[in-house]
Amino acid sequence: MTTSASADIPAPPRVLLGHHLRQLKLPTILREYEKVAAEAAREGQDHVRYLLRLVELELIDRERRMVERRIRAARFPAVKSFDTFDFAAIPSLNKPLVLELARCEYVVARDNIIALGNSGTGKTHVCLALGLAACQRGLSVAFTTAAGLVHQLMEARDEKRLLRLQAQLSAVKLLIVDELGYVPLSQTGAELLFEVFSQRHERGSTIVTSNLPFDEWTGVFGNQRLTGALLDRLTHHVHILEMNGESYRLKQSRARRRKELQPAPQPLIDPETGEMVPS
Ligand code: ADP
Ligand code: MG
Repeated sequence: MTTSASADIPAPPRVLLGHHLRQLKLPTILREYEKVAAEAAREGQDHVRYLLRLVELELIDRERRMVERRIRAARFPAVKSFDTFDFAAIPSLNKPLVLELARCEYVVARDNIIALGNSGTGKTHVCLALGLAACQRGLSVAFTTAAGLVHQLMEARDEKRLLRLQAQLSAVKLLIVDELGYVPLSQTGAELLFEVFSQRHERGSTIVTSNLPFDEWTGVFGNQRLTGALLDRLTHHVHILEMNGESYRLKQSRARRRKELQPAPQPLIDPETGEMVPS
């Protein structure tokens, strides 16, 4: 293309092109075609290269939009990634395993992940980062807390839309259930949650985080038989992340306090002149 296309296209074809591109859902081509045409003309690129450039731009943008849509649909309480995760702060965590999991092959294999550890050790951070990684690979993700999920399930049951919610929960490729164990569940709550895990078994991946070791899960579900059956399904194909250690938040606030308590450097005063001496 050697002449500036934008200057030559009369208004009606341009209007028509805009209309067609909108109908074909190619917003990036619509936005960029004139600018890219001018560049192509400047650089003496042929029509095929011009078209290729436009299609590439549309593809890149489409992927970005898809990832953003997945992130919104996942309902993460915050967007966190491994870039901001300090592995050195939690030595009990198997870093190579986590980095391997970040490649999301476990989702394709429909394996589960259980992260266990005391409060503040980065369990939520890690599962948010795994969730983000899955969104970036085009996998559907849903994030919820155990209490939130039980609440949702009970509400759906009362409103006679439990089956629909269960179908949605089974369809998602990765379901993240954070904070199992903080709140003991009612009998109905425990049964509804069990059904979710059961329906997802070998159909999709589930990540569960808990502050409780497995032998204390019966206390949450209030029923040994149910807990046994649940653990049986959840741990059939599972990667366990051991995350016991010092609370990251506590460590940080302690470090901050230590800094504040350090005496500020005092200016030296010359006793003769009474003037400040540069230190
Ligand atoms: P948990 O879910 O285990 O209670 P969180 O993931 O909520 O812990 O961590 C508490 C806070 O500390 C969060 O803001 C989290 O981003 C941060 N945090 C925890 N561990 C780390 C870490 N190793 N590196 C960076 N930030 C961390
Ligand atoms: Mg947490």
